[in-house]
Amino acid sequence: MARKASASQIIRWLRCPRSYYYAYKQRIKEPKTIHLIRGSLIHEVIEKSFDLDIKEEKITKANYKTKLPASIMHLYEQILEAPGNEFGRPIASPNEFFTELCGDKANDELETTRLMLTNYLSQYMMEIEQWTNKFNNFPKAYREVAPKFREMHIDLGYIQAYLDQVYEVEGSVIIADLKTSTLTTGKAVNCDSYVPNGVTGLNDEYVLQLFIYAWMYWKQTGVYTDWLMLKYLKYGYEFAIPFKFMDRDKIFKDIELLIDTFIEATESDDINDYPMNTEGSPRIPLWNVHNTFCSAKNTKFAQRHFCYYDRYCNEAIADGEFTDVFAPDEQQYVVELDNCSYTLTAWIAKQKNFVKTRYLGEFVKETEKAVCLNVPELDGNIWLPKSQITKV
Ligand code: SF4
Repeated sequence: MARKASASQIIRWLRCPRSYYYAYKQRIKEPKTIHLIRGSLIHEVIEKSFDLDIKEEKITKANYKTKLPASIMHLYEQILEAPGNEFGRPIASPNEFFTELCGDKANDELETTRLMLTNYLSQYMMEIEQWTNKFNNFPKAYREVAPKFREMHIDLGYIQAYLDQVYEVEGSVIIADLKTSTLTTGKAVNCDSYVPNGVTGLNDEYVLQLFIYAWMYWKQTGVYTDWLMLKYLKYGYEFAIPFKFMDRDKIFKDIELLIDTFIEATESDDINDYPMNTEGSPRIPLWNVHNTFCSAKNTKFAQRHFCYYDRYCNEAIADGEFTDVFAPDEQQYVVELDNCSYTLTAWIAKQKNFVKTRYLGEFVKETEKAVCLNVPELDGNIWLPKSQITKV
């Protein structure tokens, strides 16, 4: 069966092609972390919170302000203790995972998890109250505030995604993604990459992920998304990106190009087609999101093992692979960077602070739609769509 792409695969590949190779070509599984366990626990509680039987729970307009959050917290306690399920196989409960992974710090981590849920609930209850007042009816408000789709599976054959929440509010379509991580405002080095489109201060990976979701939703339904939303549960705040005011067709074209390039570039099973993207390294592909997790040898996080695959990279570095992979031939290309209008390429050009719009590059390798070039002025090897370059 053909492999299906996903937004997280694309982002991983952009962040570091080598890490993509280990995760998806070699299928070296990363062990579960507390962040993963927490994320799926909270997602499950929120998803199921929209299916409470409010009649059976005796939640009414008179008591919903206390009873609804209490019922959701009760749901949390139940899911926390229930055995998990991995591809039909029973596994430990989230609570057992917390104990196993955190030892005597498990209670602190559980407290953080509860806090995230409480943050979410305070936002959610504000909305419920608003709509209950508007309709003068709690059950109607409870239904109205629920997303139209939860964990919506979109399968386009060659790429698939699960969208956390899709809302339809007064004629507007909103795609929302729930985040339990701390990657947020101001954390990305160039977090203002989307300023030309009126978006500022957001993590690049998350915005790109939402763009891919909006494109997939449009491909599947023919409907344009109006707002893209990030719900940061750790701090209890939400960002809404006014997608309807952006050039959505242009962004969709860029996303299509990105997906085509990704699919082509990852057809190979040869490790040499997946360069390491160590932090501070010259081997940064042009379409790149910030790799803030690299902990390979000689990087600033080398001792902290942020990247599970650093052990393999360190062996490769010791073997000299990192400094001598490619053998460029004599062919030369002109790399044209489109700085006139917004494209993903220009977006990345902006991230890397490219000053010129034309560079000379030497051929390294190519796929049907993309070419890998060595451009010393751009700090090494880069992948470019063929539409962006001219042969000389
Ligand atoms: S350690 Fe760095 S170079 Fe190696 S796979 Fe991880 S992110 Fe990539």
